[in-house]
Amino acid sequence: MSTQPYVETIISLGSNIEKERYLPEAIRLLRRHRRIDVRKVSRFFESAPVGGPEDAQDFFNAAVLACTNLTPEELRGELRHIENVLGRQRSEDKNAPRTIDLDIAYYDGVQGEFDGWSLPDPEAGTAPHVAIPIADVAPTFVDPVSGKTAYDLMLEVDAAQEAVRPVASIRLATPYEARGPEDFDQTGDVYAPQLESIVRAQLLEIGENPEREGLVRTPLRVAKALDFLTKGYATSLDDVVNNAVFDAEGADEMVLVKDIEFYSMCEHHMLPFFGKAAVAYLPKGKIIGLSKVARVVDLFARRLQVQERLTNQVADAMTEILDPLGVGVVIEGQHLCMMMRGVQKQDSSTVTSAMRGTFKSDPRTRSEFINLASS
Ligand code: ZN
Repeated sequence: MSTQPYVETIISLGSNIEKERYLPEAIRLLRRHRRIDVRKVSRFFESAPVGGPEDAQDFFNAAVLACTNLTPEELRGELRHIENVLGRQRSEDKNAPRTIDLDIAYYDGVQGEFDGWSLPDPEAGTAPHVAIPIADVAPTFVDPVSGKTAYDLMLEVDAAQEAVRPVASIRLATPYEARGPEDFDQTGDVYAPQLESIVRAQLLEIGENPEREGLVRTPLRVAKALDFLTKGYATSLDDVVNNAVFDAEGADEMVLVKDIEFYSMCEHHMLPFFGKAAVAYLPKGKIIGLSKVARVVDLFARRLQVQERLTNQVADAMTEILDPLGVGVVIEGQHLCMMMRGVQKQDSSTVTSAMRGTFKSDPRTRSEFINLASS
C-alpha cells in the first residue's frame, strides 16, 4: 500500500459523444476507484465545441473534487484507463469528438512538467469550459500559479466565447458530499446508465413491464442501492483508517467492540445476510478509534461476500493496521438466501470466528474474548 498521504485534486471531464451516458458513467467509475475518493461533483455545463469537425456536437463538461493517494503520474494513468473502458478513441486531432476526456486540472499545489503534460492544466484557469465547472465545485481552491481562487479565475474568463451554460435538467442522483447512507428513493435523473439498462433488461426477463408506473424508476433505484451496498469495493483500508491510529504505550488490556451491526450480500445469490460482529484485539503500543472498527467491518461487508471470508478479512485488516499481540473476530449472521427458501429454519443463524496471534495461541485470551463477546 502506498504511504503517500491523501491530497486534494480536481479532475475535469468532457464528453460530446453520447454525453448523457458517458459523463455520469465516468463519474461513477471515479467514485468506485479505491484510491480516488470523490468528495464533490460540479453541475454539468454545456459548451460549444472548440475546433474539431463541422458537425461536432456540443460538449458536456463537469469537474470533480477528490482526494487521492495516487501520485500525479499514477492518477493520470488511472484516468487514461477509465477513458479506455469508456471507449475513448485517441486521434491526432486534439479537438476530435470523444466519449470522455478526463484531465487532472489541479493536483494539490503541484506545479510541474511531466511527460508531455503539465500541472496545473494550462486550461484550468483560462478555458471557460474548464474553469467554470472548477469554480462550481471548488470556488476557494487556490491556483498555485496565479495565487488566485478558482472563483476569481472564473470571473476573468469570457463564458460567452464558448457559450458555456449550466444544464438544468441533469442532476446526479447521489448526494456525493455525504459519506453516510444514501437514500435510494430520493432519485435524480441520471445515475449509472449502464447498470440501469441491465436492471431494465432483468425486469423484462422475469416477465415484468418496466414501463408501468411502479417500475419506471426502479432501475435507477436498484442501481443506486447496488452501488451503495457494494461500496466496499470503492474504499481502501487506508481511507477508512486515515489518521485514527494512536500510540498507546503501556496499553495492554483487551479492547473489544461488540454488537457491530452489519449488512452484506452473499456472493452466491446476491441476497442479503446481516447480523452482528464482535472485534477484539490485544494492543502492542497502538490503538485505533473505536468507531473505526465498525467502519472496517463495513468496508468488507459492503461487497459480495461469504461470511467466513468476511470474518477473516476483518481479522487480517485489524492485524495489518495495528500489528497487535492478537485479534479475535466473531460474526453471527442470518442469510436471506436460506431463510427465504425455507431450506433451513427461519431463525437459524451462522456463527464464524477468526483468531490471530494470542487469541489463537492462548486459550485464556480466547475464552476471555468469547465470554465478553457473548455476555
Ligand atoms: Zn446465498
